[in-house]
Amino acid sequence: MRTLEDLFAGIGLSYEIVEPSPGRASIIARIPGSDNSAPSLGLFGHLDVVPVEAEGWTQDPFGGEIIDGWVWGRGAIDMLGLTASFAVVTRELAERGIPLKGDLVFGGVADEENGSAWGVDWLTSNRWDLVRADSVLTESGGVPVGPGRRRTLGVGEKGGAGRTLRVIGRPAHGSRPWGSQNAIVLAAEAVRRISAYRGPVTISPEWADYVDALGLAGSLRDALLDPLRIDDALPDLGDEAGVAHATTHDTFAPTVVRAGQKQNVIPGEAEVTIDIRVLPGTAPQTVDELLYEAIGDLREHVQIVGDRFGEPTVSPAQTPLTGIIDRTFRERGQGGGILPILHTGGTDARFFRRRGVPAYGFGLFSDVWKPGEFRGLFHGHDERIDIASLGLTASATWDVATRYLADVS
Ligand SMILES: [Zn+2]
Repeated sequence: MRTLEDLFAGIGLSYEIVEPSPGRASIIARIPGSDNSAPSLGLFGHLDVVPVEAEGWTQDPFGGEIIDGWVWGRGAIDMLGLTASFAVVTRELAERGIPLKGDLVFGGVADEENGSAWGVDWLTSNRWDLVRADSVLTESGGVPVGPGRRRTLGVGEKGGAGRTLRVIGRPAHGSRPWGSQNAIVLAAEAVRRISAYRGPVTISPEWADYVDALGLAGSLRDALLDPLRIDDALPDLGDEAGVAHATTHDTFAPTVVRAGQKQNVIPGEAEVTIDIRVLPGTAPQTVDELLYEAIGDLREHVQIVGDRFGEPTVSPAQTPLTGIIDRTFRERGQGGGILPILHTGGTDARFFRRRGVPAYGFGLFSDVWKPGEFRGLFHGHDERIDIASLGLTASATWDVATRYLADVS
């Protein structure tokens, strides 16, 4: 926060810091445009990062060291590299007094890694006056895909649902397991069935476009576009398989298990928390239906608890703004234009989209990157970014902001 305040000091840029919960501060700056009716653009980057397991790193995760053209440290990819690029462009636009018709809004925001309750969720609900914008760029995109080097642009993301399975058995003495109804054993079988479950497949236009961009051999390509064959083709897809599965299925990941209290007591109850991510088009009631189908005849032992359902969100892939981004990617990225993708995880974009504001996952990465490596660094060890990509991202942000907000008068 102090870094951003120092960056924005002394150039006549007005900003406000809001801290709705202690330690969850966001900074919002606005460069007013000359024309009230011109569309405004928001650049929103989160400031928080996830913890590290330092022993897994080969460099100091908080050292910010530059080694052979790469900046190492937690947040380099997720997402301080992009937030810093947004901040630098905001400062340059303000300091140089570049004439803009629409407002430029910069947000360095808190709490994204914790569900955004005190970040963009709070800001868009309570301080719309501060953060309002007609379109928004946030994390993340710009990764080259396949031989054509098209660059990803996040146009949507899956919704998040959560359920807890309450598994009911019968308590008994630990010395006589045969024939018992051990809730741990029942829960283990429920988890096995859920992870083996092959649910419905959705081949979205974004997925079909992504498969084309990968430039795969004909038979694998065809299988990845066929709902009946995609599951069997996934193992042939290497490090793209996980995202291929998540982009075409509602997913169910058991993430927390609780059962048992004492070594000599067979537990009568167990709880399993399931992280569920749903595709656009999946209805809230479908979540429980799919879970029941997955566990089959175990349902007499299982209650599904909870009804949380965060709607999936999608912004239009073809707008004046995405047209400008496409042109910018072609010029700066020296490759193909935009490749609209659906993010499988959550970003702050969803809170803007829910207010009807198109929001896009942005960035521009150099040709050394591959999508699998890029995804692997999110929340992983040895997070790092090349300086070339930081330069490309800042340049592309500059181009998009000045073109979209251009004062043509
Ligand atoms: Zn992030």
